[in-house]
Amino acid sequence: MAQAQLTIDLDAIRGNWRALAAMNAGETGAVVKADAYGLGASRVAPALADAGARTFFVAQAEEGASLRHALGPGPRICVYGGHMEGDAALLRDADLVPMLNSIDQMLRHVEALPGHAFGIQLDSGMNRLGMEPAEWAALRDIALRQRPVLVMSHLACADEPGHGMNEFQLRTFRQMTDGIDAPRSLAATGGTLLGAEYHFEMTRPGIGLYGGLPFVDAAPVAALTVPVIQVRDVDPGESVGYGNAWVARVPSRIATISAGYADGIIRAMGPKANVWANETRCRIVGRISMDLIGIDVGALREVPDRVELLGPHQSIDALADAAGTIGYEILTALGARYRRHYIGG
Ligand SMILES: *Cc1c(COP(=O)(O)O)cnc(C)c1O
Repeated sequence: MAQAQLTIDLDAIRGNWRALAAMNAGETGAVVKADAYGLGASRVAPALADAGARTFFVAQAEEGASLRHALGPGPRICVYGGHMEGDAALLRDADLVPMLNSIDQMLRHVEALPGHAFGIQLDSGMNRLGMEPAEWAALRDIALRQRPVLVMSHLACADEPGHGMNEFQLRTFRQMTDGIDAPRSLAATGGTLLGAEYHFEMTRPGIGLYGGLPFVDAAPVAALTVPVIQVRDVDPGESVGYGNAWVARVPSRIATISAGYADGIIRAMGPKANVWANETRCRIVGRISMDLIGIDVGALREVPDRVELLGPHQSIDALADAAGTIGYEILTALGARYRRHYIGG
């Protein structure tokens, strides 16, 4: 079998959720957008519900509808994208709570689904989603009379604790919401780690649940092992892979493993990334192909059947560093071709 195996540790996800929940006096939600950061929301979300999560967040109403199918009735599902044109039936049928981002969305919502629960997203400085201070000032009394279930905003720089933007956004959010009755939320994973002033009544961690920075104490969740298809000796002067990008300077042993950029192994990470053969680090040589990667196994006495691309020796953030990206992108890029194995189900 040439299929690589992605192992997803649901116990680790539950443990990460509990650890983040323990830092926080209020409620701890769970962000499961983008199919739970690529790890499979239909398995991950029920595991989080088991651990005690009662409020889930997704980006789009369509994601919310499939999440409702996985979770059944009960847990609250909030949609960051708010109430878009054409969403009313999905929001109603799947019992989803849109986080309304603008006066237009507010009007659309009360017209299409009067009495249906909603939340409010405010822009406290990121300029991505949410009502701006002036817009909110105009709408605030009317909106609050309809009892939003949550009033939230999002931090732009929470992964940098010393960044002045954090205090600026905290101050702005407070100015916009101090004195209201509705529960408030500002913190995702990074904000949870910034401390109690950032927590309000609800935190909304995502990446920390899945083992990523900035939650340095997170238990690793994803492990990826890739079969070795073939091993060959390469003489000095011979090249490996597309474009002859790597040329042997000494007699070399090269193994070809069965994963590539179609599986989310970002092509640009090639020259900096490693794989692990048990306890030995092996460099990637040559260009990463769509389905295949060459690795230097010269240091091994015996080439194992499978090598580790993610796991105890190489975290999602280490792999992200090699690609010049972040753990979030590594996870959400992991492809559909892996055999997915869930432990702790
Ligand atoms: C993605 C997202 C989160 C979760 O962020 P993490 O950094 O993954 O914890 C929380 N809130 C909003 C609005 C988001 O878009």
